Formats: sequence, structure tokens, C-alpha cells
Amino acid sequence: MAVPLLDLKRQYEPLQDKIEAALIEVARSTRYILGPKVEELEVAVAAYVNAKHGIGVSSGSDALLVALMALDIGSGDEVITTPYTFFATAGAISRLGATPVFADIEADTYNIDPAKVEPLLNKKTKAIIPVHLYGQSAKMDGIMLLADAAGVPVIEDAAQAIGTEFNGQRVGSIGRMGCFSFFPSKNLGAFGDGGMVVTNDDALAEKLRVLRAHGSKPKYYHSLIGGNFRLDPMQAAVLSVKLPHLDAWSGKRKENADKYRRLFAEAGLATVVLPAEKYGRHIYNQFVIRAPRRDDLMKHLKEKGIGSEIYYPVPMHEQKCFSHLGCKKGDFPVSEQAARETLALPIFPELTDGEMREVVAAIKVFYA
Ligand SMILES: *Cc1c(COP(=O)(O)O)cnc(C)c1O
Repeated sequence: MAVPLLDLKRQYEPLQDKIEAALIEVARSTRYILGPKVEELEVAVAAYVNAKHGIGVSSGSDALLVALMALDIGSGDEVITTPYTFFATAGAISRLGATPVFADIEADTYNIDPAKVEPLLNKKTKAIIPVHLYGQSAKMDGIMLLADAAGVPVIEDAAQAIGTEFNGQRVGSIGRMGCFSFFPSKNLGAFGDGGMVVTNDDALAEKLRVLRAHGSKPKYYHSLIGGNFRLDPMQAAVLSVKLPHLDAWSGKRKENADKYRRLFAEAGLATVVLPAEKYGRHIYNQFVIRAPRRDDLMKHLKEKGIGSEIYYPVPMHEQKCFSHLGCKKGDFPVSEQAARETLALPIFPELTDGEMREVVAAIKVFYA
């Protein structure tokens, strides 16, 4: 039996009629740019993550970009972030002419380590971007303490973490701004690209709204240079149908994670390191294990028809496009080790008991 890493069909089919009706409504409304569908979603997502404002944007990547733009970050500025993330985090910093400064991660959560952030803070530091990787919060108390003491704003990259909590507090609304992605494989996925910035700051919310429409306010009068970073109302309509189901889906992911723990224990697979749940609610956008002989294990799973993926094989400081930063192999050993050892297994909400047993049985055979 083949087991896919992700099967969006199983989520779509039960909601098909509602989603298609919502899409037809947008089509017939002829409100194709922003408008009521986007506003409805902004209010709902902001409420879901306990933030005052939501600003719908074109993608998670653009959410990060426009958040940095709203802080006027550019040439000569430094932004501290993790080298173990999806490219967009560091990419947004560099696109504005600022310099990403990397701090290594905690070995158990794969998230930026506040102890590694502290020595990097200096006069040029204009923001810190922790990433809540795989659906688990970074150590936000430590990060906020450092940031507040230094007077540096925090932008949370919560692209994989909608509904994630740090000690009971929803991520995205802990720092100055939080950035979400609605890429189809995220826990709340659109039918294409989409994203949102959330904030509790009224002035920043207003600035973000202006920046996402070319800095235009009123129309055709530009006091800021923005871009076209608008969320598509078709995507907003899909997401508004899905959002009421998000807690159930993330709950199923958590149940699946707990089941994996039982199945791995029963199989005696003690050499495989399972994900930690350290700071509160983990939404398991990915279930990522540390596995000896990872590349061979992945090949073995593929032969058995089981989907898995390496997130991420090359840390940012080793990317060719960042060679000008002057980092070298060995600079961030915890990230480098994670890049060598980690593997994401299927965890999507509709995954069956039989499929999970199949995954664990295949891993057991590999290590036998
Ligand atoms: C998905 C993701 C992004 C980018 O989101 P897009 O919507 O794909 O542009 C940024 N950061 C992280 C950590 C992500 O996982």
C-alpha cells in the first residue's frame, strides 16, 4: 500500500460543495481585488491568532517582505534569523538590501536558540525573525526578553504555525508582527499562493495596508514605495470555508503524532529521534524525525511507495546565493546536523491507522 506524504484530495472532497459555491460567489460578484471576502478572512484569522489586525497578502514570502518594509529595513541593517528554515525567511531580508545574520538552533525544536541570538545584537540589528518551524513555537520568552531589552522588533515567521502556542499564547501575535502562509501544504492551505500579516499595532496595520497596494493612499498618491502584495479574494473565499475546520485538522495531526510515538515505541525504534513538544501546542505542519542513515532510509521508503521529504537539506548559510555573507561549513553545527539527519513523514489529518502502521513497519524493516 502506497502512503502519500500529503493527500489534499481527502481534505477537499468533504468540503467540495461549500468551497465551489464560495468560488462561484466571488466569480459572480465581480469583486476580484480585495473586497469583502478578503476582509472577512482578515478578521477571522486575526481573531484565530489573537491579534488585533490581519492584512491579507499575496504569499507568506510577501508577508515577510512587507513586514520588513513596514519597519523601513534596508541597506546597512542587520536582521537576525535562523539558518535552518525555508528560503523565504532569509530571502526577504536580502531582497531589501539588509543582511541576514544567522543564529544557530536548538537541537530538539529546530528553532532559533535565544542564547545564540544574544551575542549578535548590535546597533545595526533592526529586527529578529524567529521561525516556528514544523508547527512548533520558538522559545519566545527568551527571544522577547532580548528583543525588548535591545529595543528591536520581532517579526514571527509563523508560516508553518497557524494556531501554534507558546505556553498558551498563540504565535504570530507575540512579536510586533506575525507572518502566515496559505501555501497549499500548510495547515490552512489555499488553492494557490496567499498569506497574512497580523499585528496589534494600529499604525503598523495601516502602513501594511498601504504598502501592499503600491504605497498608494489616496489612490494614485504615493508617499511610500510599496508593491502589489494583495491577497486574492478567490483564495480568501476558499480559506474562509476551511478555517472553521482548522482546529479539528490540527487536532488530528496531533493525534497522529501521538500515535506515531506509540507505534515507534512498540516497534522498538529507539535510534530514531521523534519530535519534541517543548513549549505548548504543536500543530505538526510536519512530523520530522532524526534518523540514522537518513538518505538510505528515504530511498527505502520511496521503494515501498511511502512519501517523505527532507526539510531542509541545505541550511541558509551554505546556500550559494548567500556566499557573500562569508559564512562557512561548521559555523552553525546544530543546523548542519539537522540538515543531514532529519526526515518528514506523512502526518496529514486524514492519514489512516493502517497507513501509519505501514510507515512504521517499513522503518522497522530498514533498521532490522
Ligand atoms: C511556506 C513558508 C514561507 C513562505 O510562504 P509562501 O506562502 O510559500 O510564500 C516562509 N517561511 C516558512 C518557514 C515557510 O514554511
